[in-house]
Amino acid sequence: MAYSYEAPVSQSLFDRASVVTPGGVNSPVRAFRAVGGTPRFMVSGTGPYLTDADGREYVDLVCSWGPMILGHAHPEVTAAVQDAVARGTSFGTPGEGEVALAEEIVARIEPVEQVRLVSSGTEATMSAIRLARGFTGRAKVVKFAGCYHGHVDALLAAAGSGVATFGLPDTPGVTGAQAGDTIVLPYNDLEAVRAAFAAQPGEIACVITEASPGNMGVVPPLDGFNAGLKEICAANGALYISDEVMTGFRTSKAGWYGIDGVRPDLMTFGKVMGGGFPAAAFGGRADVMAHLAPAGPVYQAGTLSGNPVATAAGLAQLRLLDDAAYAKVDAVSAELRSLVGDALTKEGVAHTVSAASNMFSVFFTDEPVRDYEGAKKQEAFRFTAFFHSMLEQGVYLPPSAFESWFVSTAHDAQALERVAAALPAAARAASEAAA
Ligand code: PLP
Repeated sequence: MAYSYEAPVSQSLFDRASVVTPGGVNSPVRAFRAVGGTPRFMVSGTGPYLTDADGREYVDLVCSWGPMILGHAHPEVTAAVQDAVARGTSFGTPGEGEVALAEEIVARIEPVEQVRLVSSGTEATMSAIRLARGFTGRAKVVKFAGCYHGHVDALLAAAGSGVATFGLPDTPGVTGAQAGDTIVLPYNDLEAVRAAFAAQPGEIACVITEASPGNMGVVPPLDGFNAGLKEICAANGALYISDEVMTGFRTSKAGWYGIDGVRPDLMTFGKVMGGGFPAAAFGGRADVMAHLAPAGPVYQAGTLSGNPVATAAGLAQLRLLDDAAYAKVDAVSAELRSLVGDALTKEGVAHTVSAASNMFSVFFTDEPVRDYEGAKKQEAFRFTAFFHSMLEQGVYLPPSAFESWFVSTAHDAQALERVAAALPAAARAASEAAA
């Protein structure tokens, strides 16, 4: 696909980056491989806008993949960070900021009786699984195709495709031994979960699921799915782990738990709780968390865990996220969904706008999507055309058809008008796209 617009400064930065960094990026999706073209190197962000190295401004509908729920450079978060930085950036000792952040999490999310802070969502899920295995004395882990839980070895097993259900590694570098205790099942299929437990009695330590998946595009759980998982786990002595790295503190004050009320044994968090800094967490039942070192035997640690700057940013952001803030983000999301849906309908483009609270994505198919297989049936080439038209017109979408779009409290009428103005041409480009 040829692009009618240029980004020479981003391109030269990408060329430099590609010499010293594999693929030119520090996280693969940033390289635009799914859509082609030059990844934009951003230099600043304010409210709902990002500015790239070529001086072009974009309405940001990625929000750093979720964290920036108050928009970029929110003055109160920035002030909290500046204040913390001035007092020193890392002590390697306990500090009050991490206590306050833990208290905020515990206060918001009732099933979390105790919480441990880490630095990334990957660390959170890795540690939660280790703890579940240590607590139950069992090895096997159930995950669902299309759910992403970070790049934990055991959780990169067969994230979809036609590979067998039982523990085949999805990437070189993950050995059969690391993935061999992972059971990958189709999402939204309770019968498959029951069958796995029946086939391996007393062997499954936990089921881990995205509370509402956003990593195969947005595919919410069917009614009763999460409750069914919880019930099956409880009946079989396994732990139910809800991964709320993406949904936590975003889909409601208490994340997805605040929406479906299904009580997990363990939960994982990241993104929003760090206010744009590396802060993440896992927590849950006090009797399970008591198995974690130094209280218990399951080891887990981190030089920068509970970092004072990251905790200050996260705490400042969470304290600003009251009911009015969530109402605003929900309203922005609803308006955007209807604008996108109307534009695509007008051009006769088959699509499904799939939402979970204020997270949403657009599948280029009119079949309802309930799992990864369904998500893969969309006409992703139409997304590519849509994406580039939006980018050219100053709207920054996730560079993949299999990602959630994210909005913030900072997306005001002016930002939405810019998106609305870009949509007709992008919908036309999607309609004219050829496979
Ligand atoms: N879990 C979920 C649901 C995620 O969406 C992600 C990242 O997108 C992770 C875990 C991993 O988090 P991190 O990228 O901070 O390691």
